[in-house]
Amino acid sequence: MKRNVLVIADLRGNQLRNVTFETLGAAHAIADGGTVAAAVIGHEISALAQTLGEYGAQQVYVVDHPELAQYIPDAYVAAVSQVMQAFAANVVLFAHSAMGRDVAPLLAAKHKAGQISDIIHVELAGDDVLFTRPIYAGKAFMKVKAAGDLVFATVRPNNLPMPEHVDATATVTSITYEVPEKVRTRVREVVKKASTGVDLSEAKIIVSGGRGVKSAEGFKPLTELAEVLGAAVGASRGACDAGYCDYSMQIGQTGKVVTPDLYIACGISGAIQHLAGMSNSKVIVAINKDPEAPIFKVADYGIVGDLFEIVPALTQEVRKV
Ligand code: FAD
Repeated sequence: MKRNVLVIADLRGNQLRNVTFETLGAAHAIADGGTVAAAVIGHEISALAQTLGEYGAQQVYVVDHPELAQYIPDAYVAAVSQVMQAFAANVVLFAHSAMGRDVAPLLAAKHKAGQISDIIHVELAGDDVLFTRPIYAGKAFMKVKAAGDLVFATVRPNNLPMPEHVDATATVTSITYEVPEKVRTRVREVVKKASTGVDLSEAKIIVSGGRGVKSAEGFKPLTELAEVLGAAVGASRGACDAGYCDYSMQIGQTGKVVTPDLYIACGISGAIQHLAGMSNSKVIVAINKDPEAPIFKVADYGIVGDLFEIVPALTQEVRKV
């Protein structure tokens, strides 16, 4: 059954995040021969329309307005709704990012439609679309089908395959943003924290530290290893709670969910709430001095020993390559 699928582009500093392309791939599977459109919302973002076409969007809607330079819930609800007046979507897909998690349910409520969060797989079953999402902190998976003619869903980053880059051009339509009557919040200032520059939720390699690093200073060898690997640095909640690092680095049930190709857990015990955020990583390496640490149950490679000896040794070896 043909469907119209709309993908809302996910941006980081006016750049398209990879999850947008992964979502376009899912959109084609859902559309079943119907139309796949994308919308890019922000300020001074019209140049991105071309790239969306090259990753599978047949139509691209651009909503460009100074008020949309930063994510504001009321403004984005209005902008997406205005795109939906131009493109009658059956399925509207977002990244399962800070923006997508917030705005998709707001839109679902506004349009009296269903909302399915954090999907990792889509498949067709007769006239239905089945969305797979993890439940019980990743211990089980649930297949959900949407009732009704319209559904909103968020797609977990770094899970679905990237579609191929093709030499295609989308039809681009500019939507005039009508400022809604009620915008209840405003961004006054954006304070950026220092970061390695690698986006944790899209990183291919993550070096992560737990309470075993013992101090903020203890993260230094992990940061050095991350630098030579081109990796992002993550943390357990234990490390964040102890004040060794910022909560923006927290991975797990109440932190970020990541699926890198390689996850190196250093001084992390492997509590269920931490595993919820990283157990779908493709290869897991655990470094822990306790051979009984639960992290070894999910690790592909385990090193029993002191992270302060092993991590610098690994860095040295990688530098030689
Ligand atoms: P610990 O459990 O203290 O483990 C430290 C490990 O370091 C030990 O295994 C030890 O053997 C090892 N170690 C010590 N020194 C060294 C050394 N020199 N070299 C090598 N290894 C060493 N946790 C999360 O991570 N993310 C979440 O999102 C999250 N959400 C939660 C939500 C709820 C509702 C609750 C109740 C808890 C949540 N937690 C979460 C907390 C979780 O239960 C654990 O307390 C936490 O993950 C433990 O962090 P840790 O592994 O760093 O610390």
